Amino acid sequence: MLYIVLVLVLAALGLLVTALITASSLWAWVSIGLSVLAGLILVADWLRRRRRSAAPVAADPPAASSPAAEPAEEEQTTLIPAAGDLGDPADTPEPAEEPTEEPADASAETETKADPEPGVEETPESDVAVLADLEDEVVVIDEHPRYHLRTCAWLGTRDLIPIGVGEARQLGFTPCATCTPDATLVATHR
Ligand SMILES: [Zn+2]
Repeated sequence: MLYIVLVLVLAALGLLVTALITASSLWAWVSIGLSVLAGLILVADWLRRRRRSAAPVAADPPAASSPAAEPAEEEQTTLIPAAGDLGDPADTPEPAEEPTEEPADASAETETKADPEPGVEETPESDVAVLADLEDEVVVIDEHPRYHLRTCAWLGTRDLIPIGVGEARQLGFTPCATCTPDATLVATHR
């Protein structure tokens, strides 16, 4: 490619000399035309090289690239696919974050902070009546709807608030399906 440019430039130079010798403006114009053509080829070639060098750079960043100016180009080329990936529906991060931040109610908010709330233990009607009068201790966590046994695996390192099971039920807390406090407590009173 550069070879062609060189030939064009030399030809332009030769024509310019010819134009000066023959005092013919036609040769001068042809010379200018060739020079412009050479310039265009140079620009096109430079653009082509730039595009070609930019593409593989993301995958292969080593010292092959020359100093100052190029690293900036590298960053740009790596940023563009990254932004494109974010928009990709197959990519999880964005869709996962958006819906979790929107709902304002407490239960959804707590789910985002840690593992999801455990299910609700299904307590038979007969047990519900028994539980209402029990003062056995269960634990609750602020802004969480379930009450648990202290041994519940879900609790982890959360701040536990001890409370009587009857009171917890009265306040609207529901039994955790993981540690099944209702079944356990009712069993100890039979
Ligand atoms: Zn539990």
